[in-house]
Amino acid sequence: MAQIPATVVTYPDGEVAGTATVVHAVPLEGGRTGVLLDRTPFHPVDTAWPDQPADVGVLRTADGEIPVVATLTGGVHDGELVVGSDLPVRMGTEGWTFVVVHVVDGPGPAVGESVEAGVDPELRAALSAGHTACHLASLALDAALSDAWTKDVTTDAAGHPAFDMLAIQTSRITSYGSTDVYRVGKSLRKKGFDPSALDDLRALEQRIEATLTEWAGSSGGIGIHRDDHTLAGRRSWRCELPGGPVELPCGGTHLTSLAQIERLTVALEASGVPGGIQFTMTTSVTVSR
Ligand SMILES: [Zn+2]
Repeated sequence: MAQIPATVVTYPDGEVAGTATVVHAVPLEGGRTGVLLDRTPFHPVDTAWPDQPADVGVLRTADGEIPVVATLTGGVHDGELVVGSDLPVRMGTEGWTFVVVHVVDGPGPAVGESVEAGVDPELRAALSAGHTACHLASLALDAALSDAWTKDVTTDAAGHPAFDMLAIQTSRITSYGSTDVYRVGKSLRKKGFDPSALDDLRALEQRIEATLTEWAGSSGGIGIHRDDHTLAGRRSWRCELPGGPVELPCGGTHLTSLAQIERLTVALEASGVPGGIQFTMTTSVTVSR
């Protein structure tokens, strides 16, 4: 098999369309085909940390439009392509080449064929807004809990104790929002976190939203920065908050300015779990059209 090249990805720049060449095709279950392109605007769902859902859209060929029903992450190792949940390694693992797999029904376009890749722009816009809201809410959560720590711990991009990073269990970006699940147990208490800071969740919501209201509609730019344009390349999210710029690792897509945000709200809900507290932060964002 000819060597499969790493996919160049254009979605970090906000692209939703582009011309590409089919470099490989792999049969998948159910008569589907995984189509690999040399470059793509399609954001695939990550296997190890599936926070932002995959793009959907179409591949346009000379013969018509082929719907892309799913976009997965693939890895090539020793000439063998492994797709989606079968991938045994994290993105960026040494010795692997990472690719975007466009899943289509039927055989799909032929290797060597030129296609016009087009992402559903409405879904992308909704997920980009949701992903930006997710990052902002987690930074505001860290700020709101900064006085709940009795010891020095790792800090976040804004310099506050990194509650989000230390307590997060799962993070899911949704259309114009996100759902983040946190767990406070023995290890976080040992690090110096006082769980009584979570006793009054309504007051905590208000503190988070006070920060988010300050940020929403301000003029700061938002962007993804990178040197390596392949799928596995390191990328970071930079945002000019009113209090100063922040930067953190991120593989997703985003709004381009805080000015686009009209309103950002959070809802917290706690549930007891053995040995600790689990709570969910549901974030919602409204953007200007
Ligand atoms: Zn992110």
